Amino acid sequence: MKDELYRYFLVGGIATAIGLMLNQLLLCLLIGAIAIIFWQYHRFKLLYDWLRRPSQNPMPYTAGVISDISSVFDRLMKSNRQRKKRLQQYMSQFRRGASALPDGLVILDDQTRIEWMNDTAKRYLDIDWPRDIQRPINNLIRHPNFTRLLNDAYSSDSELSPEQSTTEFPAPIDQRLVLSVSIVPYADDLYLLIARDVTRLIDTYTIRKDFVANVSHELKTPLTVFKGYVELLEGNKSLNDKAVKAVSEMREHSNRMHAIIEDLLYLSRLEHDTTPSNLEKVSVANLVTEIHDVARSVSGEDGHLFKFDINSSLLIEGSSSELQSAFTNLVVNAVKYTPAGGLIKIHWYKNAAGGHFEVIDNGTGIAERHLSRLTERFYRADADRSRNRGGTGLGLAIVKHVLQRHQAKLTIESELQVGSTFRCTFPASRLIELDLADTSKQA
Ligand code: ADP
Repeated sequence: MKDELYRYFLVGGIATAIGLMLNQLLLCLLIGAIAIIFWQYHRFKLLYDWLRRPSQNPMPYTAGVISDISSVFDRLMKSNRQRKKRLQQYMSQFRRGASALPDGLVILDDQTRIEWMNDTAKRYLDIDWPRDIQRPINNLIRHPNFTRLLNDAYSSDSELSPEQSTTEFPAPIDQRLVLSVSIVPYADDLYLLIARDVTRLIDTYTIRKDFVANVSHELKTPLTVFKGYVELLEGNKSLNDKAVKAVSEMREHSNRMHAIIEDLLYLSRLEHDTTPSNLEKVSVANLVTEIHDVARSVSGEDGHLFKFDINSSLLIEGSSSELQSAFTNLVVNAVKYTPAGGLIKIHWYKNAAGGHFEVIDNGTGIAERHLSRLTERFYRADADRSRNRGGTGLGLAIVKHVLQRHQAKLTIESELQVGSTFRCTFPASRLIELDLADTSKQA
């Protein structure tokens, strides 16, 4: 900067000296000023040319302000080039990584249009790069499960549960492949579609399902014969005390085995398809009357107290037998795991979140660590008590399956020595509210 000023003073001084000598001071100063302007113009031009095409023009190294500006620009351009190179490296690493992934990935914009896809997605979903870029994905994949998933993902304001944001359908490219597809929002107005080949998983699941169903079925007949002989022996008066005890134990265990087999077969039937075959308008109030009888007989001399708060005008569209089995399991569990004389409350009501069937007890309660696993087959928080009370360990698995088939979900809240609340929440679409004025007129 200082050099620049010295240079201006030097030109001014020379112009003044010559001007004084020639007695043409103003003219010489004017010529000096014009020379400085042209010189500056030339240097700005060099700077402009270099900035416009840095690879084709040399950097203006003339001293002074322009040179300083050039150095600053040069530094900025070098660091930008390095940053760009690093970004390109990251991008190409990301692309190579995404392409090597065994899962198909597609990025969708807020209008369901395809922005990017990896190689696996191309294979699984029969889409192509660049042919399908910017095309709405629902024009390319038309399976009803996918259309429903896409609608749910794009219309929901809140985060969807993993079950809600995932669906399965045969791969468009090969109907023998089963794809599990999820759509999750990320960044601003972008959605990530993840497609996974679950064919082997489904095959294994089917083999396991069939195996359990076949074994249960095969065991049922010999067990029925066995139970028959045990009953015959029970009626035999000539048995000694030891034999009577043995026969009574045989009866107890064969009954338990029979209950387990029945529950396993029932679970297999529930797993067979995803929705109940016959839908009825189920009156929860009527179900509760029957469940109360069962619960009273299970409670027997323990004399549990039952309190009801039931909205009798609120019905569920579903399978009456399935709902009866699920609700009975919950109420009978409450009896089994609540000491004699305990209080069991049964509620059925509706609010903004849906219809709720609640069973609340003040029994033994369940430790927090068990809660998330209770609906697994044969998972017991208190194995001894479960077996003593004739539990099969399958009741809550049945409840979970029945609820899934009704798009409902189970919530469990519990505290040790305080009690438990088991809540089944049904979506509003499953609820039917009777107009009580109309029903009384009909009656
Ligand atoms: P089970 O036949 O053993 O009762 P379930 O699947 O119905 O099998 O229940 C699983 C486990 O959950 C039970 O073994 C028990 O430990 C626990 N459980 C279920 N309901 C209750 C309840 N109301 N209070 C305390 N524990 C419960």
